[in-house]
Amino acid sequence: MTAWKKAQAHAAVVRCAFCKGEGTDPFGLLSPPAKCQVCGGRGKVTVMEPAAACAFCKGSGVFHAQRLVCTVCGGKGMVTVMETTEKCACCRGSGVAPGQYLPCTTCRGKGVVSGEKKTAA
Ligand SMILES: [Zn+2]
Ligand SMILES: [Zn+2]
Ligand SMILES: [Zn+2]
Repeated sequence: MTAWKKAQAHAAVVRCAFCKGEGTDPFGLLSPPAKCQVCGGRGKVTVMEPAAACAFCKGSGVFHAQRLVCTVCGGKGMVTVMETTEKCACCRGSGVAPGQYLPCTTCRGKGVVSGEKKTAA
């Protein structure tokens, strides 16, 4: 009902998790030295606050060991979370769907879910 009145979102600049701020593709998949596809070579990315470390990739920005950009955080290692969140019961906060290697569909890999939309338990 009053969804938009809290937490004025603002952008924060953080170190690119995918390339660890190097600005180059950490895996050298393309002809080296390729620019980091996440930050475009800047080594920094912008996230909207409030942000927390991506649960799915544990802040690494990497989709497990597959040398791909984490689909949850887009490689930034940080995801925007609202204030009223609670740990996702489905994946227990890991962001990973139980028994799989894909992002949890309940929290979309963030590891937390909005506390507002809680349905009757
Ligand atoms: Zn980068
Ligand atoms: Zn991630
Ligand atoms: Zn989950």
